[in-house]
Parts: sequence; structure tokens; C-alpha cells
Amino acid sequence: MQALARYFYAPFMMLGLTSAAYWVVAHGYSYLWLAPLLAVAYAATFAAEKAAPFFEEWNDHDAHGDTQANILHQIAYEWSVINGVLLIPFICWLFPYQGLWPTQWPLWSQALLAFLAADLGFMVMHYFSHRIPALWRLHAVHHGVGRLYGFNGVIRHPIHQTIDMLVANLPLVIIGMPVDVAVLLAFLISVTLLVQHSNVDARLGVLDGHLSIGRVHHMHHVNWGTEGDCNFGLFLTIWDRLIGTFQAKPSRPITANDMGVDELPNFPTSFWEQMILPFVYKPGQGEPERYRKHNPTPAQDARAQVSIQGNQSGTDFGRHHSGGMHPAE
Ligand SMILES: [Zn+2]
Repeated sequence: MQALARYFYAPFMMLGLTSAAYWVVAHGYSYLWLAPLLAVAYAATFAAEKAAPFFEEWNDHDAHGDTQANILHQIAYEWSVINGVLLIPFICWLFPYQGLWPTQWPLWSQALLAFLAADLGFMVMHYFSHRIPALWRLHAVHHGVGRLYGFNGVIRHPIHQTIDMLVANLPLVIIGMPVDVAVLLAFLISVTLLVQHSNVDARLGVLDGHLSIGRVHHMHHVNWGTEGDCNFGLFLTIWDRLIGTFQAKPSRPITANDMGVDELPNFPTSFWEQMILPFVYKPGQGEPERYRKHNPTPAQDARAQVSIQGNQSGTDFGRHHSGGMHPAE
């Protein structure tokens, strides 16, 4: 089972399930059939995480105490995606200038083009989310989580999610991307987010280092000062290689307690607290008083220890994000 999960999880998700979604859309079946496919994607992810995890600790949901928040994030994320797709006819009406999109291409190549363009758009937006303090406050909701597993991909602040979609998807809609392609793109992004953050020790063979998933993405989520400011890509690492933010190996081995934001070791586990976090968290000024909890979860406790050690070694994540400075540049 372990070998099966390591070698077949990523291809099953990225090729198998997306092919099935393509089949549904290409044959004109109801988009509602994508919902059970997405359910299969989640089930496959959780099964693979059990069979071949990076860290057993990341599968311990009780220690992290965030299951309810994660389910609410899942609902909020899919709701925003559905709204985005429903808005397309309105956007087309609002921007009658269209016709640049290659609608004459086969559907599969349009979906691929959309995915590549969105990958670049998300990467650019992601880069600035780590550079501009106002965006970082919103994006910190995604980074505060102390582990990586299936749900992480959809843990985003709705305001950040909306800006993300405006930057990466709206231009494609304005130049005429059809609804069928937009639906396929939304499905592809959902599955990619699952694979990117899942706690599955996937073996990628010749694609190792070229996809922004697994270990490559772990480096982006470390709570070691400014070291997480690398590997911004959603799926491909080529964009990071082009702008010089690609990092192939971490500076030291990554442990189960190394995920998160070092300023926020007690990152809240409640959905509603996470919603107000961008408005109470001031990058560079330490953890807001309301998060210094009296009853931390075991996972928060472990991360607080790591954070203290990290600060003693001189890292300063907050100053970086409030000032936009990067010692490595
Ligand atoms: Zn990030």
C-alpha cells in the first residue's frame, strides 16, 4: 500500500481524476458530476496520507484540533469557486471585448493553456503576498497552520481568495475563456491544491524538482525566519526558476514541527478567529495578545518550543514581512 500511494497517488490525482473531469465536461454532462469526483480526490488523499505519510504527526487531527475549521474552510473555498464560475456570464456582459481566447482549439488544450496561465498568475500573486504587508496579513491565514495535509490548500482568507481569483482568473475570463474551460480550470486547481499540501510522501521520478508539491512546497511553509520565501509556484517550479526564487533543498532537515509562522506559534484553531487574524496580527510585532493561549493544543505547544529556539538563532520573520526586505536577495 505504501509503494502504491508513493508512486500512484500524484498521477491518479493529476491525470486520472482530471481526465475523468474532462470526460464529464467534454461530453456535456452536468457540472454537478464533478462533485463526486472531488469527493474521490479527498478520499484518495486521506487514504494515501495514511498509507505513506511524510510525518505521522501531521495525520493526528486531535493534536491539532482544527477539524471543524478545516471543514468550514472547505465549504467557503468551494462556495467562492462556484460563485466565480456563476459570475462569468455577467463578466462577459460587462466586458464585451473578447475574442483573444483560442476557442477554436480542442477543449483539452484550452484547459492546459488556462492552467499554465493561472499557474503563472497565482505565482505572481503569491510572490507579492509575501512582500506586501497588507497581503501577508491575509495570506498568513494559509501559513499559520502547523502542518501540511489535504485540507491546507483550501485554508485561505476569503478576501485573499477573492484577490487571487481576480488576479489569476479574471484576465482569462475577460479575453473570452469559455465556462467549460473555467470549470475544468477550477477542478484542476482544487486537485492541485490537494496534491500540493497533502501529507503524502509522493515519489515523482524525473519530475522531481519540477513540480511545486511535496518537499518543494514544505520549504515554502517552514517557520524559519525568511527561509520560506521560496518556491511560490502552484504546480510548476519553472516560474520560480525564472525569477530566482526556486530552492531545491532545505538548509537543514525539515521536522514535523517546522511548519507555520514563527510569529504565530499559537495560530488559532477556530475558523472565526482565523477570519479576524488579518485585522489583529501586525507583522513584525509578535504574536497578538489574544492568541497567547492558556490551553494550547499539543501541536501548538511543540511549535512554540521550535519558535523560541528559532528566535534565539536570530531569525526574524516579522521584520521581513513588514518591511519587504530579503537578506538573500
Ligand atoms: Zn505562501
